[in-house]
Amino acid sequence: MQFSDRVKNITPSQTMASSAKAAALILEGHDVVNLTVGEPDFNTPPEIIESIHQAMLDGKNRYSAGSGVKELKKSVQRKMKNDHGLDYDLNEIFIGVGAKHVLYNAFQSIINEGDEVIIPAPFWVSYPEHVKLAQGTPVLLHTKESNAFKVTVEELERVVTDKTRAIILNSPSNPTGSVYSKEEIDALASYLEDKDIWVVSDEIYEKLTYGQTHHSIAESSPAMKAKTIVINGLSKSHAMTGLRIGYACADAQVIKHMTDIVSHSTSNVPTPIQFGSVTALELGEDYLERNRQLFNKRRESGYKLIKEIPYVECVKPEGAFYFFPNFKECATRCGFDSVDAMCDAILEEVHVAVVAGSSFSAPDNIRMSYATSEEKFTEGMKRIKSFVETKL
Ligand code: PLP
Repeated sequence: MQFSDRVKNITPSQTMASSAKAAALILEGHDVVNLTVGEPDFNTPPEIIESIHQAMLDGKNRYSAGSGVKELKKSVQRKMKNDHGLDYDLNEIFIGVGAKHVLYNAFQSIINEGDEVIIPAPFWVSYPEHVKLAQGTPVLLHTKESNAFKVTVEELERVVTDKTRAIILNSPSNPTGSVYSKEEIDALASYLEDKDIWVVSDEIYEKLTYGQTHHSIAESSPAMKAKTIVINGLSKSHAMTGLRIGYACADAQVIKHMTDIVSHSTSNVPTPIQFGSVTALELGEDYLERNRQLFNKRRESGYKLIKEIPYVECVKPEGAFYFFPNFKECATRCGFDSVDAMCDAILEEVHVAVVAGSSFSAPDNIRMSYATSEEKFTEGMKRIKSFVETKL
């Protein structure tokens, strides 16, 4: 029997594979500290759950418009105005099944076979696969750790060709936790402004920044707004990963194409969840600020612990909920051929699950999530530190 070339070329999600390995060990009864998770470790606010329940009781259980219910699109419209000063018409807003699905549809809408999409590395694992599924060519742009893994205009210029159709920006970043400053965003914008290149701006961690403020490249100028597809969602900001709500704000033509695609695939996001998301977007800054402070506290304490591991360097993250320390020298001194091999040994010998940086095209680094309690993170670092000390 035949399988498509498309599926043969997909690399399954490495972050999900790492979580699955940890889950298997837990099932065997081992006491595993799981630092692979990419989701808040607390429940969705009760107001949102109640609002979904109420929507169901009110009979809002039918198909909705493919691009989303008007009420939620209006909430997104207000959010974009309040947070970014950007005006979007309702036909410039698309609601999808999580930011992942929205990104997938965006690439399906703008990429033809052979088109190049620039992906700054380290990158979130799904980007290259989304591009390949749209028959495009991912062009990896390796950034410098000394510049906190952020792309500069000079680096960008070197990889742009006449086949470049899009670039992905992800600030705050998964896996690096880096956040572009307004100056850095504006510098990229002034280079891209007159180019026929889409900017796919994944802003899913926008509400989790610590000191640095998030700026969308769509804010840089009306020309940039016109060529930017802003991607966002409620998974990380409102602890709603399983409820699957994401959205895009972009040119009406892109939104129409994305809507046409879902009219033949998912139809719409479950309608009651869309109504619950209206409540989420109305929760206000206090809820978001509490989460931000919680993650910031974990970031401060976790960063100190990572610095105590011998021969490990770490750029202090300014956003999201990941550390991305460099273990290259530590792994070599401990006698490992690669950081990947060291991650496997850490899991097998001291039962701490992390994600090897090779999954994000950064083989010297390790991603450690602090979307877990301070106690668990502290225990994880204690185990890794003593693991290293016994190997040196
Ligand atoms: N973009 C980035 C950078 C992510 O880290 C994730 C989730 O891990 C997503 C998008 C997808 O989020 P969602 O749950 O909304 O599909």
